[in-house]
Amino acid sequence: MSVNQQAHTGPPYGQPQPGYQGYQQPAYRGQPLPGVPQSQYGAYNGPMPGYQQPAPPQGYFPSLGFPSKGSPVSLNSDTSSLPPNSIGSLRPPPASGAPPPASGASVPSGHVAYSQLGHGDVQNGIPTSTAPVQRPPASQPFLPGSAHTPVSQTSTFQQYGPPPASVQQLINHVAGMTVGSTTVSAPPPAGLGYGPPTSVPPVSGSFSATGSGLYTPYTASQGPPPSSVSEGLPLAQPPFPGQLISTQRLPTQVPGFAPPPSTGIGPSYPPTAGAPRPPTMTGPPLPGQTLAGPPTSQPNHVSSPPPPPSTMSGPHHGPPISGLHGPPPPTHPPQPGYQMQQNGSFGQVRGPQPNYGGAYPGVPNYGSQPGPPPPPKRLDPDSIPSPQLNELPPQQKPRHRIDPDAIPSPIQVIEDDRSNRGSEPFVTGVRGQVPPLVTTNFLVKDQGNASPRYIRCTSYNIPCTSDMAKQSQVPLAAVIKPLATLPPEENLPYLVDHGESGPVRCNRCKAYMCPFMQFIEGGRRFQCCFCSCVTEVPPHYFQHLDHTGKRVDFYDRPELSLGSYEFLATVDYCKNNKFPSPPAFIFMIDVSYNAVKSGLVRLICEELKSLLDYLPREGNMEESAIRVGFVTYNKVLHFYNVKSSLAQPQMMVVSDVADMFVPLLDGFLVNVNESRTVIASLLDQIPEMFADTRETETVFAPVIQAGLEALKAAECAGKLFIFHTSLPIAEAPGKLKNRDDRKLINTDKEKTLFQPQTSFYNNLAKDCVAQGCCVDLFLFPNQYLDVATLGVVTYQTGGSIYKYAYFQLETDQDRFLNDLRRDVQKEVGFDAVMRVRTSTGIRATDFFGAFYMSNTTDVEMAGLDCDKTITVEFKHDDKLSEDSGALLQCALLYTSCAGQRRLRIHNLSLNCCTQLADLYRNCETDTLINYLAKYAYRGVLSSPVKAVRDALISQCAQILACYRKNCASPSSAGQLILPECMKLLPVYLNCVLKSDVLQPGPDVTTDDRAYIRQLVTSMDVAETNVFFYPRLLPLTKADVDSDSLPAAIRNSEERLSKGDIYLLENGLNIFVWVGVNVQQGLLQNLFGVSSFGHISNTLSTLPVLENPFSKKVRSIVDMLQMQRSRYMKLIIVKQEDKLEMLFRHFLVEDKSLSGGASYVDFLCHMHKEIRQLLS
Ligand SMILES: [Zn+2]
Repeated sequence: MSVNQQAHTGPPYGQPQPGYQGYQQPAYRGQPLPGVPQSQYGAYNGPMPGYQQPAPPQGYFPSLGFPSKGSPVSLNSDTSSLPPNSIGSLRPPPASGAPPPASGASVPSGHVAYSQLGHGDVQNGIPTSTAPVQRPPASQPFLPGSAHTPVSQTSTFQQYGPPPASVQQLINHVAGMTVGSTTVSAPPPAGLGYGPPTSVPPVSGSFSATGSGLYTPYTASQGPPPSSVSEGLPLAQPPFPGQLISTQRLPTQVPGFAPPPSTGIGPSYPPTAGAPRPPTMTGPPLPGQTLAGPPTSQPNHVSSPPPPPSTMSGPHHGPPISGLHGPPPPTHPPQPGYQMQQNGSFGQVRGPQPNYGGAYPGVPNYGSQPGPPPPPKRLDPDSIPSPQLNELPPQQKPRHRIDPDAIPSPIQVIEDDRSNRGSEPFVTGVRGQVPPLVTTNFLVKDQGNASPRYIRCTSYNIPCTSDMAKQSQVPLAAVIKPLATLPPEENLPYLVDHGESGPVRCNRCKAYMCPFMQFIEGGRRFQCCFCSCVTEVPPHYFQHLDHTGKRVDFYDRPELSLGSYEFLATVDYCKNNKFPSPPAFIFMIDVSYNAVKSGLVRLICEELKSLLDYLPREGNMEESAIRVGFVTYNKVLHFYNVKSSLAQPQMMVVSDVADMFVPLLDGFLVNVNESRTVIASLLDQIPEMFADTRETETVFAPVIQAGLEALKAAECAGKLFIFHTSLPIAEAPGKLKNRDDRKLINTDKEKTLFQPQTSFYNNLAKDCVAQGCCVDLFLFPNQYLDVATLGVVTYQTGGSIYKYAYFQLETDQDRFLNDLRRDVQKEVGFDAVMRVRTSTGIRATDFFGAFYMSNTTDVEMAGLDCDKTITVEFKHDDKLSEDSGALLQCALLYTSCAGQRRLRIHNLSLNCCTQLADLYRNCETDTLINYLAKYAYRGVLSSPVKAVRDALISQCAQILACYRKNCASPSSAGQLILPECMKLLPVYLNCVLKSDVLQPGPDVTTDDRAYIRQLVTSMDVAETNVFFYPRLLPLTKADVDSDSLPAAIRNSEERLSKGDIYLLENGLNIFVWVGVNVQQGLLQNLFGVSSFGHISNTLSTLPVLENPFSKKVRSIVDMLQMQRSRYMKLIIVKQEDKLEMLFRHFLVEDKSLSGGASYVDFLCHMHKEIRQLLS
């Protein structure tokens, strides 16, 4: 062992811990590793490998089923798993523990701070170091392999002797990628993913796909003018935290709400302690809302920053509810409709909202008119109270007692956030800041915490104790997208190369160096921010501290000053202690009768001829390092030798599928450029070879096994792209039978529809993960093919599933080809292991997503692409303190597409609170819904669907009741009071409850449900947001002269006008709905037909017509397509046509055909639940 190695700061990734070391150990294949503290988490049920494992055993709610938690404290979950000798023996303290003084050659010190940070922190000054030369251009510091850090590091570790062969080895392995200090021009690392632009949607479009920039065009320019500003401010302003909204007693009260006059809706906002100003309302006091209530000691009052002065006169909501209480004069509300607004909550001045109101008007520009509120419009002029909303016959137009305009509107919240937060960059320097919503387009500046594009939390202020957390029932979870795509304006994570010694880590918990580590003793040691252990600073990493205790090279080192960055991993982080080979892609094409007849085989082969030129490349590499291979199959498998020296490809048939092997090694995986002509010849021949096939049966498991064996033989990781059409009924391992049975719906056996029918695929998945074999599945079924079973391997290897039911060339090829192109080109890491470390007091206890877990802490993914998200839940295992807050560090070890082993680190600091109000004020409902949906979707594997739905409702009722009880001021039970940050919880929750997985309509197939279930499990927050509450745009209101989108409207049929055309998108589909009374000119412009009756509803694209309206609509559709990770299917829906039923399913504020409640009804129901909890 060389000196170098001994000097390592720490053993490789988690070496002393269960997780990672597995790579080198036999135990990796799924058996528990020795020393893994299974028992520690035993009771909790561990992180279930999302898929096959059922949800928590008993009790649906996490908080209930977590008994073991209370147990004593481990400083850090990792720690307890350390083998006794793991730490000390490895690192002899540097002699005398004294790091070299500053003069030491090893001090790489600062260089110029990288300007991108723009800190210009004078105090730190520019380090005295000698090496400014290495500084890359300011804007591009820390390029991979660029001169900067590496150089200085190099000199450092040379101290210990020249880099051993492994460095050279690494260089070889990365095929041209220079490691170390030589390559200066390499672009930032993570960008590698995409090839040159092609016909494929431009890469830049992918930005939005990450979810961050959705709704892009709709920004401030379109934002509501002044009046709305005054309305809007309060909403989005943290200062008015718990505001809320009260609706009057839903059950008994009056019919519609009259909109309040625009002035004076609420009390003006004097934060003064307790004396809320008398309301300036013009109306009589609302029932139940005595404004003069005593000041409360509500915490939210206290901590709310005062509103900007200008808001005082606006129609703001008044002080947080706290001041408003008082027994409602139930029987005699002078102005019933009014009350809701008083706190601003629901109403937040909803009444005056101009454009919103009309029933049918579909008014798009709500909020955009500064003028006085228009005359009140009600959805339902009929103000007679109706007895029981839910008893109304479905078809009858309901008589709302509650004006839908007076209940919290997702559109309004989105619009307000956009106008309040879309203009300023989100700077991550402050702990516990709640980021703008995912629907707001904003830039991020990393100043020490990970961007919300990488991590979003359900709350940015965590209760200090588990008791508080349990009381609130608010799940503490983070939604992590480790390889998220960033917009071009933002910097990719810098790649830091510490040379042979690898990243600096805490001795005990193995956390990686990060901005929260505290340097002490003049910089010779650092104290871990996660476990408090003190670790020696390795000599080569020593640096002096300035008078504030900060290292003078603070701004020179991404790992000291940024929330996200990457480390180049050393060989210690590699499987078998060998640097990895570049990955391979294997294309495996079903050539059975259906596939051939539909034209699919020919289509795939044609596409691959050009697509292979766009395999992911790293940085500035000229060609991709990825090798490719080809297999076709039906009941037997055909392998192809496409070695460059051959004149023609050779086929080898394996008909013994029971024991799969790869009949050739040399010539199966090849470089595209070298074998170009042979590959082209093969792709030309395949469709011909099978043109007359009569074979209808297929195998499936052997296909995966073949790919797996090929990767094993080549000793590399990779991805299988499998194009499959039918239930694999041919005699072979993994053979399936048709077990679809819709009669199981709503029975205790319904869960079996979501479970795989055999465990065969679970075992196969395990083998795939061990090899880094990720499986992407493209399905083209004409009938049931058991997605729940076929998807197991894909799911557990971090792959993606795409499904094109009843595939037809004409209508579906665009969608399929776009998906395929994106899937092949997108950034992906292989052989990935992710661990989330936390500071003392909380720990990650549960994980949701497409991955595999062989122990309780490490999330393993054979492949992880830029769209995949992992949701992590945290529980307390000790008390937290308000002073120190809570920290998360997500470390992802992966192999890049060029075969470089890297660690990507994301850090996030959160606040901690002792007051529940602080928790409720810093929640993010979109993230909460992401977690709840994934939790529920896993729950259906083990519990009856109804139980899952009831549990969801119950949990949310508890969350809201806890707020009401502890944070809102006393008030009549008849009032529904929602926390400002969660006022959309009921509407969004209802959407989850009505979704196809939890409440399927008659047209939803078993495969559809299994498919959706898997998709949602890997979605990020932006995707779940639009999936559950689709975006509905009035196309006819679009301004053809601007780039902006028309303002969205709420998802209800009542918002649609017969004279307009609308677009609805949910991330999977785009519907274009055409009203029966649309002007002929518009129809001509958009569809090129003269009348409504001539519109074809089989169109899958809009005709290309040369007029402004057509161009505008097509540009909107194109833009939306680029924002999503999948190409959405376009469906034209004519009003009153049969397809309209399908469309209505997505009007989620309405009652659904499958029995889902309308928003208004559900809100009443939630209110009832909350009241029961409070009484
Ligand atoms: Zn530590």
